[in-house]
Amino acid sequence: MALLPNPISQPLELQNYIDGFWEPSAGQMRDVVNPATLETVGRVPLSTPAEFDQAVQAAKTAFYEWRRTPPLARARCLLRLRDLMEQNFEELSRIQTVEHGKTIDESRGETRRGIEMVEVAAGIPSLMMGSNLEDIASGIDEFLIRQPLGVFGIIGPYNFPFMVPLWFAPFAVATGNTIVVKPSSEDPISQVKIVELAEEAGFPDGVWNIVHGGRDVVGAMLDHPDIQGVCFVGSTPVAKEVIYPRCGATGKRVIAQGGAKNFALVMPDADLPRTVAACMNSFFGNAGQRCLANANLVVVGEGLTPSEHAALYDEIASLFVQAARNITIGNGLDEAVQMGPLRDPGKKQGVAQRIADAVAEGAELLLDGRVYETPVGCQPDAFLGPTVLGRVTPDMAVAQEEVFGPVAALMSAASLDEAIAMIHANPFGNAASIFTSSGAWARKFRYDVECGNIGVNIGIAAPMAFFPFSGMKDSFFGDLHGQGEDVIRFFTESKVVVERWF
Ligand code: NAD
Repeated sequence: MALLPNPISQPLELQNYIDGFWEPSAGQMRDVVNPATLETVGRVPLSTPAEFDQAVQAAKTAFYEWRRTPPLARARCLLRLRDLMEQNFEELSRIQTVEHGKTIDESRGETRRGIEMVEVAAGIPSLMMGSNLEDIASGIDEFLIRQPLGVFGIIGPYNFPFMVPLWFAPFAVATGNTIVVKPSSEDPISQVKIVELAEEAGFPDGVWNIVHGGRDVVGAMLDHPDIQGVCFVGSTPVAKEVIYPRCGATGKRVIAQGGAKNFALVMPDADLPRTVAACMNSFFGNAGQRCLANANLVVVGEGLTPSEHAALYDEIASLFVQAARNITIGNGLDEAVQMGPLRDPGKKQGVAQRIADAVAEGAELLLDGRVYETPVGCQPDAFLGPTVLGRVTPDMAVAQEEVFGPVAALMSAASLDEAIAMIHANPFGNAASIFTSSGAWARKFRYDVECGNIGVNIGIAAPMAFFPFSGMKDSFFGDLHGQGEDVIRFFTESKVVVERWF
C-alpha cells in the first residue's frame, strides 16, 4: 500500500471569509474527521446568525460595484480562478479525499467537474445577453435585458463537498451577484481552499464569502431580507420541509435539490459485460453516496418466456456479484483503492441497519458488505464493502427509500412497461438508466420516464456544466435548475424595456 502524501499535515482551524478577511467565529467548533483513519483533519465553526448577517451586509455592499463591473472583467476573474484551480488540481483533489474519504480518482473527477463550471461561467458575456425586437408597433422597439439581483446563499451537501457549491457559485458571481456559501460542516475544507483561490484570482472583497455552520446559519439565510435566493443541495426532508417552504414564505428564489432512488433497467439485448462494468461505478462509486448512483437494478424480461427471464436474472446476478466482490476498499489516497469508507461511522451503521432490515423483509443476501477485512492502515469504523441484495420487490423499504451507501437491490419486471411503472411508483425522480441495444426501447424509456436525468447505456447520467442538472418529484423543488441556461435565468431578472423616440 503506497499512499499519496496527505496535503493536510496538521488539523486546520477553519475561519469564515467575510468582506475579504479571514475571521474566527464565536461559534462552537466541530471536528472534521478523515473517515478512513479517524484522524481529525480540521475544526470548523458553527457560526452564529450575527456572523452570517455580517457576511450578507458585506455582500450587499460589494454588489453595488460588482454588478457595474463589465461582464468581460468578471469573466477574467473566473479565468484566473480556472488557472489557479488547474495549478492546484492535485492538492484540491487530495483534500477532498482526506475530508470525505472518497478515492483519489473520484476526487480528481470532482475537481475536473468543478473547473468545468468555472470555464462555462466564464462565457458570461454571451450567456447573459438578452434579446430585442424592433417595431413591435410602428416606431416602437422592445428589449429584454438580464440583470443580477443581489446576494444569494448557497448550501452544500457532504457527498460532493467541492463540486456542488460550484454548480452555482461561478454562475452567481459571473452574472454580477454576490454570494455567501455555507459548506457542509462535515467536510468544509475544499470550499475554504476554493475561496482562497478566488481571493488570489482577484474577486473584489465581499463578492465571494464563506460562513461555516449548520442549521442556525441556514435558518438565518432563509429568513434574511437581503438574501434574494437560495441554492440548496441535500436530503429531501430538508429540501421539501425546510428550504422550499421557507423560501416561498420569505419571497426568495429557490433551487432545492433533494435525495434520490435511481433505477437501472437491463433489457434482454443489453451488452452484459459492459453493463455490469458501468453498474459497478454507478452503484458503488463514492461508496454509493451519489445522488445519481443507481440503487435498484431491474432485469426486464420483455419478449422472454418466464424461464428465459429467470435465466437472464441469474446470469446478471452472478456477473454483478462477481464484479462487486472484486472491488478493493481502503484509504482513498492509495491509487489502487476502488472504494473508500462512508463519510462517518454513524452513516455506516445506518446503512448496515438498512441491509439487516432488507434481509428481514425477505431480500436475499447475495454479497454482504458488512463482512470485510479492515484495509491496511485504516480504522474499520466507517467502512462497508459492496452489498448485493437479490429478489427485492418494489414494496420493500430498501427499494423505495434512499439508502445512500454501497447497496445494490436486484429486482425483476416482466416487461418494460412494468419496469417503468416501478420507477413511477417511487417518490423520487432524480435519475434512471436503461441498458439496451434497441433504439425503440431506449426512446420509449427516455420519452416516458419521469426522472430528470436519463442515461442510455450510461450508469451515471451526470449533466455537463452547460446543461441543467435536472431532477423531478421528491428529488427537486423549484422551477429553474442549477447549471446551464437555467441557472443564468435563476440568477438574473428578465427586465423588459419598451422604447419609442419622438
Ligand atoms: P443534508 O440535507 O443533511 O444537509 C445538506 C445541507 O443542509 C448541509 O449544509 C447541512 O448543514 C444543512 N442542513 C442539514 N439539516 C438541516 C436542517 N434541518 N435545517 C437546515 N439545514 C440543514 O444532506 P447531506 O447528508 O449533507 O447530503 C446527502 C443528501 O444530499 C442525499 O440525500 C443526496 O441524495 C442529496 N444530494 C442530492 C443531489 C442532487 O443533485 N439532487 C446532489 C448531491 C446530494
